Amino acid sequence: MTPPATRREARAAHLLATAPVPVRHARARRAARIRVGFAAVAAAALGIGGAAAITAAVIAPELSASAGLVAEATPTASPVPLPQAVSELPAPKVEAAAAIADLCADPAFVAALESGDDEATLAAAGGAEPFRAAVASGTAECVSLADPARLWVVVNKARASDPIDYRPGGLAAPAGVRDIAGGSLRGEAAGALADMIAAARAAGAGEIALESGFRSYATQQSTYGRQVSSRGAAGADLVSARPGYSEHQTGLAADVTACTYGCDDMGTFGGTAQQEWVAAHSWEFGWIVRYVEGRTEITGYSPEPWHLRYIGPELASVYHEGGWQSLEEFFGLPAAPDYGD
Ligand SMILES: [Zn+2]
Repeated sequence: MTPPATRREARAAHLLATAPVPVRHARARRAARIRVGFAAVAAAALGIGGAAAITAAVIAPELSASAGLVAEATPTASPVPLPQAVSELPAPKVEAAAAIADLCADPAFVAALESGDDEATLAAAGGAEPFRAAVASGTAECVSLADPARLWVVVNKARASDPIDYRPGGLAAPAGVRDIAGGSLRGEAAGALADMIAAARAAGAGEIALESGFRSYATQQSTYGRQVSSRGAAGADLVSARPGYSEHQTGLAADVTACTYGCDDMGTFGGTAQQEWVAAHSWEFGWIVRYVEGRTEITGYSPEPWHLRYIGPELASVYHEGGWQSLEEFFGLPAAPDYGD
């Protein structure tokens, strides 16, 4: 049975208003408004939908909780079937209106956040994309991207670990994973890495080893110190984090490498079958490739196809589907090209 025209039109407007697409500058936002405007005009021209639905479509990107408003906009049960042309409206390419939801005013969200359960927190936000969008829009001030215990922590050259010598609890070695340097990770990341590496092997992509996982503040002091000795301070900053500024200190970062009989240095990971598989599939296991081509000015790091960051499957899925290229852009943070001193 065909649903009432107004309902389908409202659904189209809802899709237009909530599609998760990274919008990085004003031009794209203007384009989004133009497309939404087009949808409303098209609906009016086709003589379907009530005035309320059209109004909702026009103002949707500007309103908080507009998704709900649009979805409920079925003012009259018109028997007129929806013309086929409407299903061929431009694909949804609009900044997520859900971004403006005030999560921190929602007691259920705050309770989930304060429980420390990351998965429950994302669920209470309505999913990882509404969570991301709210954080990126600056309306979720109760969410701290500096909390090192959360999956959404962001550590970069402008954001040191807090505290500077933070050490996560529950570190574990990934089971069944070749381990070159005694690597451990936070428990959930260790399990996800083991699963990812087993899946790569099963897919015929070859063997992958963990070259380096958690690194303590003290370890990073000596690692960075060695790089300064051989490259100088500026050269060291391009390849190694200063103590307290390494993602490895969160226990959520893993450097992986390809193995045939022996294992190669991670610096040769790029271009291997293992690297290509990781680039395409790591998100399915909650990992992202943190430092990619073309984002050095934002992340502060040259591309590192071997350096993976665990953000959990929900956020990683949104990251992948949105085509995001850096965690800074994903969460609406400023670029962190250098230490600023
Ligand atoms: Zn690394």
